[in-house]
Amino acid sequence: MFVVFAGTAGSGKSSLVASFSDWIRKEVGLKISVVNLDPGAEALPYQPDFDIRQLFTIREIMQKYGLGPNGAFLKAAELLGEYSREIIRHKVFRSFSDYILIDTPGQLEMFLFRPEGTQFLKKLERLRPVLIVYIVDGSLAPHPEDLLTSYMLSLMLQAKSELQVVTVINKVDLVSEEDMKTIRLLIENPEEFAKSVADKVGGIAGDMIMDLIKIVEMYAPPERAILVSAKTKEGLRELYDLVHEVYCSCGDLT
Ligand code: GDP
Ligand code: MG
Repeated sequence: MFVVFAGTAGSGKSSLVASFSDWIRKEVGLKISVVNLDPGAEALPYQPDFDIRQLFTIREIMQKYGLGPNGAFLKAAELLGEYSREIIRHKVFRSFSDYILIDTPGQLEMFLFRPEGTQFLKKLERLRPVLIVYIVDGSLAPHPEDLLTSYMLSLMLQAKSELQVVTVINKVDLVSEEDMKTIRLLIENPEEFAKSVADKVGGIAGDMIMDLIKIVEMYAPPERAILVSAKTKEGLRELYDLVHEVYCSCGDLT
């Protein structure tokens, strides 16, 4: 199965790809391949089996087309579309690895706000099942409205890609006991969570939050809270069990 790590910049995608691949190899003994699809990455905490930077980097695109970093990511999305056949022909996408973990850029243009990223994932899906692991930065917990915004993006990603998305909270090593309760509430009881945010925000914005959360409840599968730390590796067993369940399609994720 392809396991694609998505999430906002700095949420810990690359770190989690590194620690999760390492953990599965050591603890479960499976064969794992790793792919980097972030053309803006400077240093990676893992050794990729395929690296999109062989084809283009954000730095090169900025120079070649006279663009700033944001324009360069839009161009990179276009290039991902143009090179997609060539990329998928690489042997890593056809290897016998049990899981192929894919790191993506935090600039969500490539996978959320433009068509090329999801079109690419659709092509991958013809080879093997694709699961998206959407990472929310747990250190946002002291700001519940930001936590909620990031969480809701995972639903948009699900709606747009039509692929299965599981949501994971990372950086729990930085989260206090009190903030941990906030995070659990968001995942296990979104309505109550939204109510506390709406009360704080008030007015029409508060009403909107309550309406939006109804959509979360309608479409987000009743998930258990997967809380991980790429740094300390806590929670990686739970993440693996969830990924494995989806792979076997033998669980209902509750
Ligand atoms: P990406 O942009 O989503 O790929 O994020 P990175 O993996 O590059 O991580 C961004 C920053 O967060 C880096 O400084 C990481 O060391 C840090 N980081 C990532 N995961 C964790 C974590 O679980 N705990 C802590 N404390 N820091 C983390
Ligand atoms: Mg990264």
